[in-house]
Amino acid sequence: MFCVKCGKNGETFDGLCMECFLNGKQLISMPHHVDVERCANCEEFRINGHWVARPAKEAAEDAAVSAISAVDGLSVISVGVMSEERDLRNFTVKADVEGKLRGHTVRACAETIVRLKNNVCQRCSRQLGNYYEATIQIRSGTKELDDRIRDATVRYVRDRIENMSSSNRGIFLTRVEEVQGGVDMYVSSTSLGRTLAKELGDSYGAETKESSKLIGKTEEGGDMYRMTYLVRMPEYHLNDVVIFEDTAYKLAGIGKGNGKLIRLGDFRETAIRRSQMPSLRVHTPYTKITKATVVSRSGDEIQILHPSNYSTVDIKIPAGAEIGETADVAEIDGVVFFVP
Ligand SMILES: [Zn+2]
Ligand SMILES: [Zn+2]
Repeated sequence: MFCVKCGKNGETFDGLCMECFLNGKQLISMPHHVDVERCANCEEFRINGHWVARPAKEAAEDAAVSAISAVDGLSVISVGVMSEERDLRNFTVKADVEGKLRGHTVRACAETIVRLKNNVCQRCSRQLGNYYEATIQIRSGTKELDDRIRDATVRYVRDRIENMSSSNRGIFLTRVEEVQGGVDMYVSSTSLGRTLAKELGDSYGAETKESSKLIGKTEEGGDMYRMTYLVRMPEYHLNDVVIFEDTAYKLAGIGKGNGKLIRLGDFRETAIRRSQMPSLRVHTPYTKITKATVVSRSGDEIQILHPSNYSTVDIKIPAGAEIGETADVAEIDGVVFFVP
């Protein structure tokens, strides 16, 4: 066959040789410009309908590539991109496409301008608007909530949410409010509130309670509730010296279903059911355990200065215990015990 245009002999397409067929034909095209939304608050980009964290240059390139259109019959094999930042909000992106058309390998390039447009993503607009679905209330069983417990629970919740939010954009902590007797944490979702309250309950041996309040209707017309998860901290805390059935122990562990006690004097371990734990009486909170000066050590005994009358006393220690210049002790009914 002869090309009707240049007369070359060979394979023809619509009467033309490959060269004449491709001449002037636009195999790929890109719009004059492509707009990409960027959240002005978290600086994530919306690519193909999803908000993603990405360097601006990559976001511009991705947006440009998804805006390429190819002529019928061209199957794209690979796309190379080159971008240039014109200013903070505009990138020129060139795409170099290799493809197959009617059995022939062809190359084509095109270029566009990607414009970054500020917007606010849903997560940020909710967070900035103080949106929340649930409140986690940390309270003490008795009086004021211990500052350390308050800080530790807030830190725990912050860390967990930061961790979880990397795989779930809907998760955030709206605000933390110190209130009379404790602290309130407002969170973005009901399931998040429930999960964290349960985790806190398990690790502190705390009682948890949930309640709900009708606050309106959902878009579908159903009832919309706001949940409150109360975490009531017990009187006892991990490492306190406690009295259980007239015997002194150190509370050495709190688990989901039970606690671990170490008896003062012989340092034997005992498990206690979670249901028995409310009967624990705190003798000395872990924050107030006395430090006694160590005078000497021999085997499984140390000699210390009595914390109140400064006489020297011998007390038992667990085998292999590491002893420094002071030792933690508790005085129970006039008898001084080493607290492991
Ligand atoms: Zn030709
Ligand atoms: Zn955002």
